Amino acid sequence: MRIVVALGGNALLRKGEPLSMENQQKAIAGAARSLADAIYAGHHLVITHGNGPQVGLLALQSLAGPQESMLPLDVLGAESEGWIGYELELALRNALPEGAAVVTVVTQTLVDANDPAFAAPTKPIGPVYEEAIARGLATEHQWPMVKDGHGWRRVVASPKPLGIVEIASIKRLINTGVTVICAGGGGIPVRAGADGKLAGVEAVVDKDLTGALLAKQAEADLFIMLTDVAGVYLDYGGKEQRAIASSGPKDMIAHAAGFRAGSMGPKVEAACAFVQETGQSAAIGALSDLADIIAGRRGTLILPNGGKISFHYPEPEQPRHGGITEIPPEKHF
Ligand code: ADP
Ligand code: MG
Repeated sequence: MRIVVALGGNALLRKGEPLSMENQQKAIAGAARSLADAIYAGHHLVITHGNGPQVGLLALQSLAGPQESMLPLDVLGAESEGWIGYELELALRNALPEGAAVVTVVTQTLVDANDPAFAAPTKPIGPVYEEAIARGLATEHQWPMVKDGHGWRRVVASPKPLGIVEIASIKRLINTGVTVICAGGGGIPVRAGADGKLAGVEAVVDKDLTGALLAKQAEADLFIMLTDVAGVYLDYGGKEQRAIASSGPKDMIAHAAGFRAGSMGPKVEAACAFVQETGQSAAIGALSDLADIIAGRRGTLILPNGGKISFHYPEPEQPRHGGITEIPPEKHF
């Protein structure tokens, strides 16, 4: 099967762990082993990944330099794509036979300069701060901040991806059997001027939405989003919490209010869009379950003829971080 796999933050760094090279390399090596197993099982993977913690760290490092050398978010996005792509490619090479065809493409994603998302930032990036520090940063840099778990995080605009600039070349690579790592961090957001010329914009595109676009354009049979929970839950963190085994896109969309903006919301939206537009299947689940997700045994499957939501029984393991950790983005200060 041709499978587009979108790796969430957990694949790159476990939640709550500091962003040290050691922690990141350990997490990425683990992810590479799961991906390599799927390749050994005969699947052709196209890999994409998030960049929230990394792009936020780069933004902080950029602040340490002289004012005139501050780097805009599109450049930081490109840096994070190169950084993570390099590490993933290296780990995958080490997990595959010597000379395996793996390549990273630093990718640009077309967005609408008038996307309403520019007026309402929702995408958390960088570290989690204590409230006093968050307030200081908010005042100093005019950064909108949002409550996330026990602390606060900077949020940036996250416009909808409209197209993948390099898609024709990426498809050529895929069609010759190369394992392509691309559209990392949702791709570098660029807009087209009236004259058609491209320019970078200050934003971070949601990697799950770009992943769905990539899966559609790469003609994937399956689109999988790997994260740090075993799947999508109804009444997440509540008394009636239940793990969804499978569903058609319509019933998932009917329950959209239960899937949080900025985390599970875009995953469900991306999965349903891919399934409705292509008639293929999508899945959301834990990195460690990749083989079972492909086999349809674990995770949450969104199926073109899936009908109503069905649940896992007996319950799979509880979400590792249990409980709702996000607060809706209207809690800005
Ligand atoms: P990633 O880096 O993989 O994109 P996110 O933090 O964006 O990770 O999304 C995964 C998180 O979504 C989980 O850790 C969980 O806390 C949260 N979440 C919110 N609503 C749900 C839900 N209904 N079911 C499962 N997880 C949910
Ligand atoms: Mg996410």
